[in-house]
Amino acid sequence: MERKQFQLGDIVQMKKNHPCGSSEMEIIRMGMDIRIKCVGCKHSVLVPRAKFEKNMRKVLRSTASKVEGNTDVIE
Ligand SMILES: [Zn+2]
Repeated sequence: MERKQFQLGDIVQMKKNHPCGSSEMEIIRMGMDIRIKCVGCKHSVLVPRAKFEKNMRKVLRSTASKVEGNTDVIE
C-alpha cells in the first residue's frame, strides 16, 4: 500500500464531511497529532496522525510548489 503524502498547508479532502457540510480541511499543524482547519467554518480540530491518514481521502491542493521558508514547524 502506498503511503499518503501530505504536508503543512495542504488542503485535503476527508472521507467524512464536517458537520458544517464542508469536506475540505487545511493542515495547519503537523506533529504526533495533526491539526486541521475546516475550510467551510474555520473550526480546527486535532486528530492523531493514524486517524488522519485513515480518514483523509486525498490532497486537493498541495503547497509543495510554493515554499515560504517557514514550513517546518516542530516545537
Ligand atoms: Zn466545518
